[in-house]
Amino acid sequence: MHKTRIAIIGGGCAGISAAIAMAKQGWAVSLFEAGSELGGRARSIAFTNASGSTYLDNGQHILIGAYKSTLRLLNTVGLSEKQAFLRLPFSVRMHGPGHCLLSLNTASYLPAPLTMLLGLLACKGLSFSERLASISMMARMAFNGYRLDHDLPLASFLQDQNQSNKAIQLLWEPISLAALNTPIQVASTKVFLNVLKDTMASTTWFSLKKNNDFLLAKLDLSKLIGDPASVYLRQHGVRIKLKQRIKGISKSDLGFQLSGEEEAAVYSHVVLATAPHNANQLMAGLSELHAERMALASFDYQPIVTLYLQYPTHTKLRLPMIGLTNGAGQWVFDRGQLCQQHGLLAVVISGAGSHQNLSQEQLAEAVTAQLKQAFPELSEPLWHKVITEKRATYACKPDLTRPLQQTALPNFYLAGDYCYADYPATIEGAVRSGLICAELIQASHEVG
Ligand SMILES: Cc1cc2nc3c(=O)[nH]c(=O)nc-3n(C[C@H](O)[C@H](O)[C@H](O)COP(=O)(O)OP(=O)(O)OC[C@H]3O[C@@H](n4cnc5c(N)ncnc54)[C@H](O)[C@@H]3O)c2cc1C
Repeated sequence: MHKTRIAIIGGGCAGISAAIAMAKQGWAVSLFEAGSELGGRARSIAFTNASGSTYLDNGQHILIGAYKSTLRLLNTVGLSEKQAFLRLPFSVRMHGPGHCLLSLNTASYLPAPLTMLLGLLACKGLSFSERLASISMMARMAFNGYRLDHDLPLASFLQDQNQSNKAIQLLWEPISLAALNTPIQVASTKVFLNVLKDTMASTTWFSLKKNNDFLLAKLDLSKLIGDPASVYLRQHGVRIKLKQRIKGISKSDLGFQLSGEEEAAVYSHVVLATAPHNANQLMAGLSELHAERMALASFDYQPIVTLYLQYPTHTKLRLPMIGLTNGAGQWVFDRGQLCQQHGLLAVVISGAGSHQNLSQEQLAEAVTAQLKQAFPELSEPLWHKVITEKRATYACKPDLTRPLQQTALPNFYLAGDYCYADYPATIEGAVRSGLICAELIQASHEVG
């Protein structure tokens, strides 16, 4: 066993990923989590009403085939992809006027860029010239390696690239909102292109598993991430301290001490793996981290609303995931086809918008009407539940300065979706950031 004693503060995907990687190295790891379970923003909550009890995710999550580190992490804690996910070919199926349909289901033996081009060529709902403009834009981006010299808001970029309002509204905006959770008027084009690059790159001919496939969880989020991770970490000697909110961090010659911890232990290393706004507060006593704090002070945040509507259990949509137009709801997921929660539909509304002016009842009414218009066969919902995450993700704006894992303070690292620079706020970004912290600590040992 090394003398290294590591405190990880925050048990979301980033903290879990760091803890697993560090436990594998044989280091003594303590994981502090303010909540009563691991998982952070990717967790489920128990919900009870007159009809009974169930678990609802705090937000419907979508993963994609390119999320290799997340898939490896789930594998490590004992979940195969088959147990965990329904893998669907990338498709944007918008229900509403225009009925845009971009499906990459065809020609699945071709590498991703070609299936994307073929998909765009066959994209229903757009005119031939609109499809051609989209294909030309994709070809230009691929030719430039999805790189951009100067970042700018995605809406401006798309207009510069001759994308029509309809193509933006029916195609690019839904993809971008799902990926960046930031309205396209203020979303970073550079980060959007990074996501496109990863989804389009490195799939080979004849591969049936594409980076741009959607992975939809077949388990609720706690069973997918937090619960199996807890079991694995305990089995591998990680000390997990739940309901332990750390209030501050101080540094002396001996090492780091945490206020709020039950015992006054000293740690050789700290990995701060909370959401950015919590990280900023916790770094307040460490003057070396001024630059990181300044960067985090400039962040702002975007909400995600998930509206659960329970219909009679025989209710089934045509597909597990369908895009919506003509109203507040953006995507609808059939939880019966995903997690055996029959008749339960989850409607997602990403980013800020006028829906925030509605009460929960008004929003449920408006979305129920939107669904009825799209799927006239639906009856009335039996109950509904609105879950709003006000700070679901940071706003992924152009040229946002994001701190990295390595900080100015030796042996003090940051992990979290916000500090994996290439990606927007995603599970994959969080997982990768945790892995980088473990690599940095390992490398510092090898040097020392
Ligand atoms: C509604 C919603 C939908 C989303 N949809 C998607 C999606 O479709 N695809 C996708 O990839 N991503 C999605 N995301 C984003 C994804 O969930 C996050 O990017 C990821 O979970 C962030 O993980 P993290 O570990 O960086 O942070 P967090 O999950 O926020 O974890 C930080 C942890 O630190 C704990 N903590 C905070 N302060 C303290 C303290 N003082 N002491 C101890 N512990 C503390 C918190 O309780 C929390 O558990 C979504 C997020 C939300 C909210």
